Amino acid sequence: MSTPSAPIPVETVAALRHQLRTPLNHIVGYAEMLLEEGSELDAAARTELSGIRASAREIVSLLNSILPASGPVRDVDVEQLRTALSDPVASIVRSIGNVAQGVPSASLLDLLRINVAAGELLAFAEGTTTLQHPASRPSRPAGRRPVAAPGYLLVVDDNEANRDMLCRQLERQGHTVDLAEDGPDALRQIADRPFDLVLLDMLMPGMDGIAVLEAIKSNAKHQNLGVLMISALDELSQVADCLQAGADDYLMKPFEPVLLQARITASLERKRLRDREQERSRELERANEELQQFAHIASHDLQEPLRTMGVYAQLLTRRWQDRMDADSEQFLNFIVDAARRMQALVDDVLAFSNVGRVAKTLREPVNLEEVMRQVCANLQLAIAETGASVTHDALPVVHGTEMTPLLQNLIGNAIKYRKPGTQPQVHVSAVRQDEMWTISVMDNGIGIGPEHAEEVFAPFKRLHGREIPGTGIGLALCRRIVEGQGGRIWVEPRPEGGSIFRFTMPVEIAARQA
Ligand code: ADP
Repeated sequence: MSTPSAPIPVETVAALRHQLRTPLNHIVGYAEMLLEEGSELDAAARTELSGIRASAREIVSLLNSILPASGPVRDVDVEQLRTALSDPVASIVRSIGNVAQGVPSASLLDLLRINVAAGELLAFAEGTTTLQHPASRPSRPAGRRPVAAPGYLLVVDDNEANRDMLCRQLERQGHTVDLAEDGPDALRQIADRPFDLVLLDMLMPGMDGIAVLEAIKSNAKHQNLGVLMISALDELSQVADCLQAGADDYLMKPFEPVLLQARITASLERKRLRDREQERSRELERANEELQQFAHIASHDLQEPLRTMGVYAQLLTRRWQDRMDADSEQFLNFIVDAARRMQALVDDVLAFSNVGRVAKTLREPVNLEEVMRQVCANLQLAIAETGASVTHDALPVVHGTEMTPLLQNLIGNAIKYRKPGTQPQVHVSAVRQDEMWTISVMDNGIGIGPEHAEEVFAPFKRLHGREIPGTGIGLALCRRIVEGQGGRIWVEPRPEGGSIFRFTMPVEIAARQA
């Protein structure tokens, strides 16, 4: 048997708090609306309504201090609350009687709702706690106070009066509002209508707010839809779960109109930003697809006539060589050379358009030591011709893809842009910082002026004329490979002469800190 001082089970206290808070929210909310909407209210009625609102708020703080959300609550506390409530409840009931003469008939229904709610509190104060919520919709249309960018909102709450109150506040702020009375109803409406924001009550019978939130967020179609959780004070820990599960923000009952408006405006703004961001990345995808299509056309439709030009120019040279004067032979050589360069350009543009759109799933552990072996084999001819020395420190395994073309371009350039009369020396090293590796390719070549450090990565940008062959695509390709995988690439002058190209790549997943 429980003694008078035994703590009451937490769930029972929570249920009691909920039972009391609902009528309190109605009193505060309807009083606030009457004060805001009722321009025809006389001064005395206004004073009474302000008094009602103040008394209700006083009861909210009594409730919070006598029945705290955490800590033990005993029977004596409930008794103390009953006693403490008597005065402010009596004052509310008195004021309702006084105000009834001063409100226009259109507002009487709202006053009636306040009266019903006050009756529930009175029943508690007098010893009964079987509380019921008012359950009919008001007849009066809401006045409007438009906001800068209104939205299409869905209010989800199992309590009809809560829905109605919030709906009217929101409509007054200029929003378009639909209502749902439970989770499944909300999900049905969300599937059919282009809402901007859902205001979701945490505590609902059956499917609760968190379950609805999870169902919304698990559907990729609704990833941009904003969700604002509506909660009471002692549900704060669950609010944290909701924010983690993807809710935008939360609102605490009873609603404070200014805060309500600010938070909804902020959530709508975030939703619009997300929409814009998505539209931009779609455009980028479209542009990339167009580039790929162009590359495809280039590879097939341009290569064929190019090859024909080259072949026939060579044929002409061979057949007419004896009968051609020196000028004509030179002209023909120009044509052959131009065709060859254009062929190289077409090949490079094709390569450029094909990289950098790497799906995350294609990235895997890549051992850079093995990549180095492959690159040196591919560059064997250039290394032998120039007598270059290509060395490296111990190199890591990174998480990425397309590392061979990346390093091959950088090392190939280090050899190609060598200082005349000097043996090219290329050295590759790696330093780890947190979750990224920085890989450096250092050479003793002609160097790049700091004023060109940025532009060398632009497509087709070359600092040299025809004396050194190239298309200006190589470094643009490198940048695309690196940035496509979340890394950075840049060039620094080497103090002793030459350049250091550096790029970052994510550490292999298995080697990351937990
Ligand atoms: P390409 O080599 O085909 O001209 P890149 O995009 O690879 O095109 O390089 C762009 C320009 O950057 C080159 O034309 C060259 O002027 C300069 N450059 C690249 N790598 C080096 C390097 N290691 N040393 C000096 N200059 C370089």
